[in-house]
Amino acid sequence: MPELPEVELARAVLEGALDRTIAAIDDTDHWVCRPHAPGEIAAALVGGRLTAARRRGKAMWCETRVGGGPGPDLGVHLGMGGQIVVDGRVGPTGPEHRDPGPRKPEWDRFTVTFADGGSLRLFDKRRLGRVRLDPDVDALGPDAETITREEFRTRVGRGRSAVKARLLDQSVLAGVGNLLADETLWQARVSPSAPADELGAARLDALHDALEAALEAAIAHGGVHTGEVIRHRRPEGHCPRCGAPMVHGTVGGRSTWWCSAEQA
Ligand SMILES: [Zn+2]
Repeated sequence: MPELPEVELARAVLEGALDRTIAAIDDTDHWVCRPHAPGEIAAALVGGRLTAARRRGKAMWCETRVGGGPGPDLGVHLGMGGQIVVDGRVGPTGPEHRDPGPRKPEWDRFTVTFADGGSLRLFDKRRLGRVRLDPDVDALGPDAETITREEFRTRVGRGRSAVKARLLDQSVLAGVGNLLADETLWQARVSPSAPADELGAARLDALHDALEAALEAAIAHGGVHTGEVIRHRRPEGHCPRCGAPMVHGTVGGRSTWWCSAEQA
């Protein structure tokens, strides 16, 4: 499941599609392009250009310019394992994409062809991605990469629910998924099930800084699977920092691993 780093890697690829005249759009996959009818996205954007590639949490979209004025935003969601392909560049390229086998043309669920002959495609074998005009991102909290310490304290350190559940709540802050939450909590030595309002400012700040560092590392190294504790999230796994056994449970409704000694 893509988290903020995977979407950021896809967004960076999308930048290669900016400021090029759109000659044609294949939006005939009615499932991926729902609720739009086939041809509707094409009618709105052909002749125009994508002008900026934006991201908030796991939501991604392009601003557009059509007929001399601002056009509708083009929202692109990667689903579980979708990839953005612009000319020869592909992102993200994590383990969920390893060995996709022959890349069948029908797995390109949405294609923008530019007047210069290049293209932007959503490659999505599982067909769980989505493309839509003017996606609604108002319900999302601030982006996890840019949230300030003060905002983080106020938003995450509120309520009796487990801190991991707060981190995963996209209306609290946007972009953290299951692996990134476990990595961040482990880096900060915070128990995933600690009640959010009992953490206190110092531990919330430590969590904020750990999240910032985990995001930076994951983007630099290709995705959340590269986190330090991720490959130790397994039965018989040991904490790579102190050697204590890793333990498993369900927190915030999600499969969770933590260090039995440092995150007790
Ligand atoms: Zn440990």
